Amino acid sequence: MFNKIVIASGPTLEPIDPVRFLSNRSSGKTGYHLAMEARVRDIGQITFITGPTVYLPIQVELIQVETAQEMRAAIGEHFRSSDVIIMAAAVSDYRSLKYYPEKMKKDSERITLELVKNPDILLELGLHKRKNQILVGFAAESEDIFVNAQKKLIAKNLDLLVLNEISEANPAFGCDENQVYLVRPEGVRKLEKMNKAHIAAVIWDDIVSMAGGS
Ligand code: C5P
Repeated sequence: MFNKIVIASGPTLEPIDPVRFLSNRSSGKTGYHLAMEARVRDIGQITFITGPTVYLPIQVELIQVETAQEMRAAIGEHFRSSDVIIMAAAVSDYRSLKYYPEKMKKDSERITLELVKNPDILLELGLHKRKNQILVGFAAESEDIFVNAQKKLIAKNLDLLVLNEISEANPAFGCDENQVYLVRPEGVRKLEKMNKAHIAAVIWDDIVSMAGGS
């Protein structure tokens, strides 16, 4: 059905010194299930680009990266030749401006770490997307979730945005179950709380129907 599918998954890890880094609580489960579901359906070759995680799918082209910049470079190599690109990765929004080559000492009571923004990979992909490519993004919102999701869908030129409402009842990151909304230019569909494998299956149903399949 598709020639090539790129799935970006997991957190990114942004080093500060040889032993410390900035990262987030992404487990990589959603991306993993998206890859495994695509394998089971046999709907295309999969290139799986992931930050550090234990959730590594089988029978895919596996590219393991650490930082947002490495992830961006890896995706850049595969973007043009792919029909479907799913950015399920929780890319660190910021990295340390400076990498300290020696382990930082704890002599001071306070230190300041200057952060610099990482490139927004999905935004760049949306700018360069071809008409027949399907681009899927994720968002975790806690306020004005639908307004922000619609803005993101348009700004990043997405065909589908999987919206997580982050709340105490639905932490989304790290756990097995999640409650999401599928946001498309045509409208929003609420999915019940379900496990991430099931969510992956519904996402693929949506992508396949977008591509004209059934
Ligand atoms: O803007 P926000 O970070 O909420 O958007 C989330 C979406 O954008 C996710 O699909 C994520 O993979 C992607 N993203 C990215 N590069 C960043 C930050 C987020 O590709 N630096």
